[in-house]
Parts: sequence; C-alpha cells; structure tokens
Amino acid sequence: MKFCSHCGAPVELTVPPGDTLPRYVCTRCAAVHYQNPRMVVGCIAEWEGRILLCRRAIEPRYGLWTLPAGFMENNETTAAAAARETLEEACAEVEIERLFALVDIPHIHQVHLFYTARLCGGRFGAGSESLESRLFAENEVPWQEMAFRSVTFALTAWFEDRRLGSFGLHTTDLRPLA
Ligand SMILES: [Zn+2]
Repeated sequence: MKFCSHCGAPVELTVPPGDTLPRYVCTRCAAVHYQNPRMVVGCIAEWEGRILLCRRAIEPRYGLWTLPAGFMENNETTAAAAARETLEEACAEVEIERLFALVDIPHIHQVHLFYTARLCGGRFGAGSESLESRLFAENEVPWQEMAFRSVTFALTAWFEDRRLGSFGLHTTDLRPLA
C-alpha cells in the first residue's frame, strides 16, 4: 500500500500509539489501514464415491489440479462462497453438507476452508478458470500434480474419513517449505 484510500496522501508503515504491530498510517488524515488474512473457500464435491477436481487454466500453478475454491466475497457466507466457486470453476451445482477442513497459512495471510458437498446430478463442466474438470477415485487422484498443499491435506483427510465411515473436522497450519 502506497496511498491512503480515504484522502490519497502517502501512507507510512508505523506502529500506531497503543498498537503492537506496524500498520499503514496516512500521513495526512491519520487513518489506519489494517490488513488482515483473506479467506479461500472451496468444496470437496462427491459423486458416487469420486471427487471433483479442476485443472487450473490460470496462474499460479497453471495446469495443476485443485478442488474448486476461491476468495470469499463480501456479503456472502462461507458456504455460499464454496458453492459459488464450484459453479464458476466447474460449472457444477452442489448441495453443501458440512465444514470439513480449516487450514491456516500464516505466511501468505490466508485461511482455507473446505466444505463437503454432493454434486447435484453428477453434472459438471469447465469454467473459464479451468482447463478441465474430472471426477477422481482415490487411486486416480494425481497426487503429484496438485496445485496447493491445503487441497492435498483436505483430500487426504476426506478419503481417510470415508474409509473410517465418519467425517470429522480437520485442521492444520502450513508453514513455508524449507
Ligand atoms: Zn488519508
């Protein structure tokens, strides 16, 4: 951030009085511009024991596979965001079931949430951000070509829980790779 979104004057990075962290503070109107993590929300959409994955048509991680997911918008719930992203990326309508995975990724300022869902009618396609979408059984998942560690975490937990016959809530923190 370089300029104040209220008055347009330059901002400086400084610890405001009474605060503990550096913030962008306007040099003219003194507005404090807080920056907070963003939510990425998606679906583990199941159809006849297989899971819907999309191959990314955009950077980062072009050509790699992911669960349909994306940034939450203002004025929507996390569940609605998960369903919307699945419609946009995989042209698929889903019935959201439950929150399944929560992944903190502090170093990139993101929190990833994944819901379990039923793929309505088994219908899907490829949205403009996807090269293709496909349903995968566990032994078909391209584990070496996954776009994001959070997706691998959620998918692995889903197949484990299905073996156990009981779906829980799974959480983890991801740190930078050494
Ligand atoms: Zn200002």
